Amino acid sequence: MNTSILRVSGEVLSRAKELIAAGEVVAFHTETVYGLGANALCDEAVLKIFSVKGRPADNPLIVHVHKNYDITSLIDCEPPYAKLLREAFLPGPLTMVYPSTKKVSKYVSCGLNTLAIRVPSSPTAQAFLEATDLPIAAPSANLSKHVSPVTARHVYDDFNGVIPLILDGGASSGGIESTVLDCTGEIPVILREGLITREQIAAVAGDCGVYAM
Ligand code: AMP
Ligand code: MG
Repeated sequence: MNTSILRVSGEVLSRAKELIAAGEVVAFHTETVYGLGANALCDEAVLKIFSVKGRPADNPLIVHVHKNYDITSLIDCEPPYAKLLREAFLPGPLTMVYPSTKKVSKYVSCGLNTLAIRVPSSPTAQAFLEATDLPIAAPSANLSKHVSPVTARHVYDDFNGVIPLILDGGASSGGIESTVLDCTGEIPVILREGLITREQIAAVAGDCGVYAM
């Protein structure tokens, strides 16, 4: 398989949409690190992410959606603080974990009853997500245990000949990942620290815990 590195254009987005519809994996720029995306509604496509990345089957994936995507079909309920946090920080580097409606493939959340959702601000990511208009499951676009990629070249080094397309949006700023926030309880709880801080979250939500490892 040839691996193309391309900037987004009408033609490139049509190709990306075709590939995703065919169950393929497409890498794309985000503002944190590059992602390795596939159709979250399709079991085979999601399993392909785990196999090309060598990701352990018990490490759940984040679902990425465009800024106008209606997430109510994906999540079961949303506490009032989570709506405030979405309004304050999205699109941006905040991943929010909700009770799942189980509409997406069960392999996305590795059997958990929750679903992690993120709305990236990268224009490349937004264009890709809008073109497919699907929830796109995506971990960082590196082989398991490798460093998270911040350039298209970096993705190419791990996946040349294995994936068909890398959507190049330039360098991701810094390579710090999104903050993963549990929004299933009374107050939000940070599960993974990232670009958005506990103080920023608490300023909007009133309070914010940190999961003790
Ligand atoms: P990665 O995309 O590889 O950088 O990592 C995704 C992160 O999101 C991991 O730390 C996962 O454990 C976390 N994550 C994804 N889905 C869930 C979920 N449903 N509940 C809790 N954490 C999750
Ligand atoms: Mg990772």
